[in-house]
Amino acid sequence: MVRIEMENLLEMMKQLKEGKEERDRKFEKHDRGGAVPQGNATKEAIQQLGLREGQVVYKCPKCCCIKPERAHHCSVCQRCIRKMDHHCPWVNNCVGENNQKYFVLFTFYIAVISAHAFFLAISHFITCINGDWKKCSSHSPPATVVLLLLLMFEALLFAIFTLVMFGTQVQAIWNDETVRKKQKK
Ligand SMILES: [Zn+2]
Ligand SMILES: [Zn+2]
Repeated sequence: MVRIEMENLLEMMKQLKEGKEERDRKFEKHDRGGAVPQGNATKEAIQQLGLREGQVVYKCPKCCCIKPERAHHCSVCQRCIRKMDHHCPWVNNCVGENNQKYFVLFTFYIAVISAHAFFLAISHFITCINGDWKKCSSHSPPATVVLLLLLMFEALLFAIFTLVMFGTQVQAIWNDETVRKKQKK
């Protein structure tokens, strides 16, 4: 009886582990903004490329991969990323070939939403000034002023920050460059 349960438990643990490995493989395939598989620069793999004489292949010394053109090594992700733009600490990932579109949209949406919040706060402020301060808020007038000012400050801060990010991204795409390449110049 106990043995059967133990066997069941072991089987379950095995399945869980396999599920995790499966997920890891999927993650490798789709995520990380265009990561190059680690350690694929084996002798056989390079021979399989069928290089002609005079052709060169780059190998990353840090993650031992065959480095495609315009790929850069990210020291945080410890991977080579195709068309790496930069490592974004805000999204905790690299921005590269596979996810730059989403990054551009993300910065654009945040900028629009922040601007919207800013104008909402201003219009609320005006409503409060025009009426008596008790109707427009459930807080006391001084608390309302402080909260509105905080909200306006935050909205403006994020609107400017994401707008600048959006601008540099669009400029980089327009010039077919990565932000990283520009920094190196
Ligand atoms: Zn690398
Ligand atoms: Zn990275």
